[in-house]
Amino acid sequence: MSQRIKIKALLESTTTDIDVTVKGWVRTFRNNQFIALNDGSTNNNIQVVVDFENANPALLKRLTTGAAISVFGRLVASLGKGQTVEVKAHTIEILGDSDPEKYPLQPKKHSLEFLREIAHLRFRTNTFGAIFRVRNSLAYAVHQFFQEKGFVYLHTPIITSSDAEGAGETFHVTNFDLLNIPKTDTGEADYKQDFFGRATNLTVSGQLEGELGAMALSDIYTFGPTFRAENSNTTRHLAEFWMIEPEMAFCDLVDNMDTAEALLKYVIAYALDKNKDDIEFLTQRLLEEEKQKPQQERSEMSLTEKLQFCLDNDFERLTYTEAIEILKESTPNKKKKFQYPVEGWGTDLQSEHERYLVEKYFKKPVILTDYPKEIKAFYMRQNDDGKTVRAMDILFPGIGEIVGGSQREERLDKLEQRMDEMNIPKEELWWYLDTRRFGACEHAGFGLGFERLVLFVTGMGNIRDVIPFPRFPKNAEF
Ligand code: ATP
Ligand code: MN
Repeated sequence: MSQRIKIKALLESTTTDIDVTVKGWVRTFRNNQFIALNDGSTNNNIQVVVDFENANPALLKRLTTGAAISVFGRLVASLGKGQTVEVKAHTIEILGDSDPEKYPLQPKKHSLEFLREIAHLRFRTNTFGAIFRVRNSLAYAVHQFFQEKGFVYLHTPIITSSDAEGAGETFHVTNFDLLNIPKTDTGEADYKQDFFGRATNLTVSGQLEGELGAMALSDIYTFGPTFRAENSNTTRHLAEFWMIEPEMAFCDLVDNMDTAEALLKYVIAYALDKNKDDIEFLTQRLLEEEKQKPQQERSEMSLTEKLQFCLDNDFERLTYTEAIEILKESTPNKKKKFQYPVEGWGTDLQSEHERYLVEKYFKKPVILTDYPKEIKAFYMRQNDDGKTVRAMDILFPGIGEIVGGSQREERLDKLEQRMDEMNIPKEELWWYLDTRRFGACEHAGFGLGFERLVLFVTGMGNIRDVIPFPRFPKNAEF
């Protein structure tokens, strides 16, 4: 028997009239004759034609949706619509039955909410097959982009004792018996007796450690899981998400923005090229979904057009201060349509404001820079105005913030002063401060939320649908 060929390769085959072995899961079996078979290598199914008159009826009965089968047969040119080749089966072997009465995935449209509850099986749908193949391509392209530029992939720790964002939204890591926690004289948990001899948590960002790498290797990037115990039940937040964090020595904010914009364009172009069928499928899916919405809420561009638009246009760059002026004067602000009115300089931007700038005002991706220091982290480089820092956020249509970054404060005195103002314990970050003591230089970096990128490229609306097994408040199933 010939070796198994994946369906993607079969469908692309230019030779016909050869014997092939193909394996996969039955999507549908109609007229006792046509099997639509899928093995996840592509969004498209191969049609297997069964010679039902000469087939064992007991076998035909077992060709149910979800069953795993192996087919040995002849690859022939197809007369049917929508395919160029099909397989005329000689023999069919059932590898794993699937009871049609009990199999949760029926050959019909299921809601995304329902599929989330059966996340262990949703990979077998067209939508999720496409999403996870696109996700895979994006991840590969991220590595390719940085590797081509000579960046070093650095593995920063998952368990750490620092809270890089200072937001206090960390998951504790402990080996204590929770019913019997050793206490200090003053009644607090005595972490000296814990596994690491100190309080530890899951990382919220690899940036601080990434900076240490950049201060020797020049350009590094991380690509790993991060954890935030933020109790935000939104379509943009997960408790466990993947982040890409480059950190570059001898680099200022403009270089930083250029790198981030180039990265986004590179990976989107890569997916558009590698995953044409998947993105075309997801584009149609979104069109269908948008038909349920009132006309004025539908997007002006299709998914493919949106992605292409993103490649063809420079991102709009402006300062936070300029953005506030635009928002203050905007129609929704004057008509009190924003849930959080924009009153003046200094307020943090909400996602409704970010989306107004991107979707209504500029109608393209936007990079905002030079935010008030009060709403940004301690490590961002201070501007001479004493009010703002060299921060940059990239805002995307439908998403809001997709990248957050900055030029880092390399001047020891300025950094220490800011840490004091913000009550950040300098002793604990002695190692971070050391890089400012020994060979400090201009440097910058950013964090790209990988799932927000996948959201954008797949046109999905909920971040829980672009990671295989989402973690969010009150959910850690699978
Ligand atoms: P937001 O304001 O949307 O909560 P943030 O300011 O907390 O974002 P950063 O700390 O700058 O975000 O993190 C860098 C990037 O990581 C963000 O631009 C975003 O793409 C992503 N990100 C942040 N929090 C989450 C989350 N909970 N789930 C998924 N991605 C996230
Ligand atoms: Mn956040």
